[in-house]
Amino acid sequence: NQHILRDKLLAMDGKGYGAYKSLAGSYAFDRYTLFIDHVQSDPFAPPSRLRVRVEQRLAGFPPVLYRTRPRRIALEDYLMRAFARAVARHCRGHRGTGKSGLVAVDHCGQEILERTGAVVNSDFVEIRFVVGLPARGRTITGREAVRIFLEELPAIIHDSLFYHNLDSGGIIQQVELMEDQEFLRGQLAGRGLGAFVANGSILPRESGVSDRPLVRGRVVPFQSPPELEVEFNLPNRGRVAGMGIPRGVTLIVGGGYHGKSTLLRALERGVYNHIPGDGRELVITLPGAVKIRAEDGRSVQKVDISGFINNLPGGQDTRSFSTENASGSTSQAANIVEALEMGAPLLLLDEDTSATNFMIRDGRMQELVAREDEPITPFIDRVRQLYEYMGVSTILVVGGSGDYFSVADRVIMMQNYVPRDVTARAREIAARHRDGRRMEATDTFRRVTPRVPLPVSFTLEGRDKVKARGMDEIVYGHMDIDLQNVEQLVDPAQARAIAEIIKYAARHHVNGRRTLKEVVEAVLSDMDREGLDVISPFKGQHPGDYARPRAHEIAAAINRYRRLQVKIRPE
Ligand code: ADP
Ligand code: MG
Repeated sequence: NQHILRDKLLAMDGKGYGAYKSLAGSYAFDRYTLFIDHVQSDPFAPPSRLRVRVEQRLAGFPPVLYRTRPRRIALEDYLMRAFARAVARHCRGHRGTGKSGLVAVDHCGQEILERTGAVVNSDFVEIRFVVGLPARGRTITGREAVRIFLEELPAIIHDSLFYHNLDSGGIIQQVELMEDQEFLRGQLAGRGLGAFVANGSILPRESGVSDRPLVRGRVVPFQSPPELEVEFNLPNRGRVAGMGIPRGVTLIVGGGYHGKSTLLRALERGVYNHIPGDGRELVITLPGAVKIRAEDGRSVQKVDISGFINNLPGGQDTRSFSTENASGSTSQAANIVEALEMGAPLLLLDEDTSATNFMIRDGRMQELVAREDEPITPFIDRVRQLYEYMGVSTILVVGGSGDYFSVADRVIMMQNYVPRDVTARAREIAARHRDGRRMEATDTFRRVTPRVPLPVSFTLEGRDKVKARGMDEIVYGHMDIDLQNVEQLVDPAQARAIAEIIKYAARHHVNGRRTLKEVVEAVLSDMDREGLDVISPFKGQHPGDYARPRAHEIAAAINRYRRLQVKIRPE
């Protein structure tokens, strides 16, 4: 129990760091159990992994706060943030060498994600955190350790894991918001919408490197044009009004710097839920919406991009296209086809990050460069087919080409950050000025060939590591997977999760018969059934800090893995 822990720590004072290893185990405190699952080997190594578990009858969270999945996730997120705030209040922080004195729970950003950092159920509340066991040089400072374990941690736990010591209003606000968000997202498809932006939303962010809302200067809150305004009746908040973007092909046009990309970026993030005060709480997009961009240099493995690219010089077969180094247009084509392969119902594109020759080929260029000499069937000639034959909608930012007026169902113009519905005017202009171009798609694009990942792709040797470096890179054995351009990956904990998921999927689900989509879905359903911990090699203890990624980002990582081998599933 706690006295044993105190005695052990005091006895270790002045000893070599390795003596800490004997701390591993569990300790009963008056109101909680402390688990020391993994003890770091030196003060500079990753800090030690611990858990604290409080019986629910002592923690006292009313079941209404965790009875459904969205409510539980919102509460778990709240507890992680409360724990972090309590650490800031009670922990003296760094003291000694390396990570000595650190107490930390994984950082939560603007999104509310399902994470491994906290677990709430009817039996207990558990928080998973790390402690840098303190030392000077490599000498254990036992008294500091006693202070951490018997003064600071008890105060942190007191403040953050017992319902009656928390701000119940704040918890209820977050739980009810997440319920509303999930409800609204679930309603979109049935209402014929791809996305919704509530009036009053704050879309711009503080800076290019900060995801917090912009507060300085003049911020224009979002206001729907009357033509696109829709209402939802949410379970907690009641009626909300805002802009509904119907399915089909929607253009976002407007002058440079008038807020087009800011709107699109908010829609990209709308596949996730945001915390109260974020400004995008009620910017909600279909859960499977995928941002598509050009990404030259990426690898591509047997993707059928023939809908967009054909007759490449050198005669490469684009029905099963592989490359170690895709161009802007071939990478963008592959990104689309891979998103469709995973079942995306909505594509989001921004001219700023698209390959121009993939997006448009105007009448004059068609006259100069013959159809036979141009491998690319531009997106403009496929975007309607995607919708009409496959039911896949597109929202597209274009400031530079009116050719798209002819293929759009709706045109929204951003003017000084205010959206206007200019569909009728764009139609009229399109009718008056023929664009002089010919449709270049001679066939219809209506299906995507599923690919089957082969087990040989994922073999690891004895000492091979699997890990993430920040949010932009996964290391899988000897191979780095570049995720910089996977824009809807929003948290380093998601990247860490994906690294483990690939390994887990290879062990349990990749069998040379299941398609990529089936493999990813099998992993996600294991996570649904057994919790996020299932992907961790340390399941049953502190599993590591993971956040749930979407199927699309898991597939995106596998698709960018340069040792990937697939076969095409015969029909
Ligand atoms: P565009 O894509 O049309 O060129 P951006 O979306 O990049 O324009 O926006 C240009 C600038 O305006 C950005 O710095 C952005 O933060 C800011 N901005 C966007 N929307 C708003 C708004 N509603 N209120 C205030 N500033 C905004
Ligand atoms: Mg822009």
